[in-house]
Amino acid sequence: MRKKDVPIVAQSTETTDWVSRYADEVIAESERRAPGKPVVVASGLSPSGPIHLGNLREVMTPHLVADEIRRRGYTVRHLLSWDDYDRYRKVPAGVPGIDESWAEHIGKPLTSVPAPVGSEHPNWAEHFKAAMVEALAELGVEYDGISQTEQYTSGAYRDQVLFAMKHRGDIDAILDQYRTKKAPAKKQGQKPVDEAELEAAEGSGAAAEDDGSGTSGYFPYKPYCGRCEKDLTTVTAYDDETTELTYTCSACGFSETVRLSEFDRGKLVWKVDWPMRWAHEGVIFEPSGVDHSSPGSSFQVGGQIVGIFGGKQPIGPMYAFVGISGMAKMSSSKGGVPTAADALQIMEPQLLRWLYARRRPNQSFKIAFDQEIQRLYDEWDKLAGKVADGSVLPADAAAYARAVGTAAGELPRTPRPMPYRTLASVADITAGAEDQTLRILSELDPQNPLGSLDEVRPRLGKAETWINTQVPAEERTVVRDEPDADLLASLDEQGRASLRLLVEGLEENWSLDGLTHLVYGVPKVQAGYSADATAKELPPEIKVAQRTFFALLYHLLVGRDTGPRLPTLLLAVGQERVRKLLGA
Ligand SMILES: [Zn+2]
Repeated sequence: MRKKDVPIVAQSTETTDWVSRYADEVIAESERRAPGKPVVVASGLSPSGPIHLGNLREVMTPHLVADEIRRRGYTVRHLLSWDDYDRYRKVPAGVPGIDESWAEHIGKPLTSVPAPVGSEHPNWAEHFKAAMVEALAELGVEYDGISQTEQYTSGAYRDQVLFAMKHRGDIDAILDQYRTKKAPAKKQGQKPVDEAELEAAEGSGAAAEDDGSGTSGYFPYKPYCGRCEKDLTTVTAYDDETTELTYTCSACGFSETVRLSEFDRGKLVWKVDWPMRWAHEGVIFEPSGVDHSSPGSSFQVGGQIVGIFGGKQPIGPMYAFVGISGMAKMSSSKGGVPTAADALQIMEPQLLRWLYARRRPNQSFKIAFDQEIQRLYDEWDKLAGKVADGSVLPADAAAYARAVGTAAGELPRTPRPMPYRTLASVADITAGAEDQTLRILSELDPQNPLGSLDEVRPRLGKAETWINTQVPAEERTVVRDEPDADLLASLDEQGRASLRLLVEGLEENWSLDGLTHLVYGVPKVQAGYSADATAKELPPEIKVAQRTFFALLYHLLVGRDTGPRLPTLLLAVGQERVRKLLGA
């Protein structure tokens, strides 16, 4: 069908966004499954190392839905399961305070691995959890954190563990359908050896975990060894009557027989653990990453296993990848893994919330650590302007409202949100000198000067950090100390006249608007037009003349072809120094 044959349909009057639509669905499902009970949504994070920004989607997706449900007056529990009883799989690259000796802990629960040297936290899991907890607080995310170490070792799941062992045959039968389908090359009974390969195939450590099959039969429970604490154990016998379980450890040779009805040092294998928790907590909504959603993956298999526990699979959209632009290069020393805390160093929580709120979970997007962040902030400020003047579109208004606050209220905001790119330019040029920063920012709009830098915080601090940590040295602005005598001497009469016109206008135009008018106006005046002439009244050559003039100014001021926007740059450099560098 050709394009013009497509009938024109009326613009959708849809006023909701993806968050609203999931909230509708989740509320309805919760009323069906557990009428009158709080709505339960869930997230799970494994503190096996720095928690990547991509994993923030695991929390933000249910958070946004939970928040919408709260706004509608319902009671919601957002469970955040800290999968800190998972095994320590590998020593992550580039984490400060650790070395290869951490490899000796592989196989232990994450809460039994020592924290990196210098950490104030008692163990590995707590160390990496802490940074995320702090970031979530800044982001206004309200949740009930559940430590799986605490749950398992306190016996909270004891009945579920015994139940799973009793029904191991049923569980095995379900898993078996996928074992043959999923990995035809892998003979049954043969254990996955190369974890790295499996992780690469399925994308996640947890998803690739041993499902519990072994030569002595199928057991969905794995004890951590009583001597070495590792999970390299094999259950060799289990008595359903007495719950006596015997295991041997291949790491240290230890073997013992325990009574599972009173033993709490072990866990269900992941593919059974996850659906057990859906049933136990009554989870209605829990999204998962692409790696958990492929055929034969834990989400799909869990959907069948959950029935054994008498529960139902939650509504579980798959969320797409969150990429990063710019950070990888800068942070290679840290392993190139930007966390939520890293992002909050350079952007306000509102902006980060907005990035997650405005895209549907199945859309991938990037979080900018490079120059793109300035454009993103421009877009954000423009949106705020449209919200203020009422011209905003409904879906954009919804994303904005979700970004600036939660059902609990608005997040603290920068009282005077000056453009991020201006703040970044000023930070770039002043190297953080407060008096100079205050002077320049006040001169941007002399009618309405800044009383104190607090009015532009925390945005100013984020822009400063961005300049200092993310902008490579060769992109930083260095204002010349001395005039470029050679360049000044080489100028023709036209060039010298342009500088004269600029210098003569500095005094009366010393504001952001004034200087903008001035720098664009000089080439117009030189060509015989009024400085106020609009683009329509001017020949196209004026644009070329303006570009040439701007390049000349950049060279004379900062020794490069480009730099921060000229009016901001001029204000930052200051009148006296501008005159000197322009040879006046
Ligand atoms: Zn052992």
